[in-house]
Amino acid sequence: MDQTTTKKDLLSLLPEELCALILSLGEPKYRAEQMFSPMHHGISPEEMTNIGKALKGKLSEVSYYFLPTVRRKLVSAIDGTVKYLFSLRDGNCVESVVMKYKHGNTICISSQVGCRMGCTFCASTIGGKVRDLLPSEMLGQIIAAERDMGERISNIVMMGIGEPLDNYDNVIRFLTLVGHEKGLNIGYRHISLSTCGLVSGIDKLARENFPITLSISLHASDNETRSAIMPVNKKWSIEELLAACRRYYGVTGRRISFEYTLIAGKNDSPEAASNLARLLNSALRSPKDSATFPIHVNLIPVNPVTETDFSASDQAAIDRFAAILEKKGIRATVRRRLGSDINASCGQLRRAEEQKDT
Ligand code: SAH
Repeated sequence: MDQTTTKKDLLSLLPEELCALILSLGEPKYRAEQMFSPMHHGISPEEMTNIGKALKGKLSEVSYYFLPTVRRKLVSAIDGTVKYLFSLRDGNCVESVVMKYKHGNTICISSQVGCRMGCTFCASTIGGKVRDLLPSEMLGQIIAAERDMGERISNIVMMGIGEPLDNYDNVIRFLTLVGHEKGLNIGYRHISLSTCGLVSGIDKLARENFPITLSISLHASDNETRSAIMPVNKKWSIEELLAACRRYYGVTGRRISFEYTLIAGKNDSPEAASNLARLLNSALRSPKDSATFPIHVNLIPVNPVTETDFSASDQAAIDRFAAILEKKGIRATVRRRLGSDINASCGQLRRAEEQKDT
């Protein structure tokens, strides 16, 4: 058996688990407290000056500390958006994107190597799922990007490669760690999690008490269209998904945003827009609380993926779609396309790299 697989992954440990490990090595508990914060800011135990050689030796026998390494980096000449292809410890790679806004840097992180959800317009799912990411590998994308850029990241969107709710336990542990005051300490209100609509996961997440923003990838306003582009819809229909959103809001009081990718000729007609407004209003707003359920739809012109033949809606269709939603009381924004000059849409950089290797 590979020795390394049995070693403990230090950056995935909760503070109390790190304590238990340190105690089991015959060292005092405060050593764990000394190590936790530096590790979460990119300093390996080996590099720490506040712990001795003996502990470093013992730690390296039973555990490892690893940060993703930059395999490729693309910087947008237009707006400074940075796209990373990171190598993981086993040689797999994932993508992260850092977007620079006035209110701070936002990172879009991956949650799996590949994806098994099968959305037809998405590059991340073409080769299927290779494996789940560990909590340390989600944290590692943020730490490695901060180190590389020399800048702090203040917002996280879980919208990179993978379906976060299909890697539930690791994502929950990641959220616990990333918000820890001795760790990266990123506020939950600055974190969004995007899902293609795993209803069981949404219900579980509602009970976890993380005040994060939930994003739902809806992309269609009728079940026939949605099932054709998003296989997950065959398991949970739009109605079941929206009912889960309503429950989520009921439990958490947190706003939910909807992502709607506009694909020319598939889901961008005025009828689709009216349908969407009717659907969201009737599923989420009863006459009693019509003003209170905040509905926000992000319209995203589809990013053409080499292997598919979808093309983006034209500006007139996008504007028309947004206007219909607004008229029916739904806030709609068209996603600004940052890094358009480097924008191999999510998952494409990793695919290109893998094809190079084979
Ligand atoms: N699995 C999660 C998160 C990853 S995808 C989810 O489905 O939400 C992040 C967002 O990008 C989703 O809304 C997804 O549907 C969208 N997306 C994927 N491929 C796209 C493409 N080619 N063009 C535009 N948006 C895309």
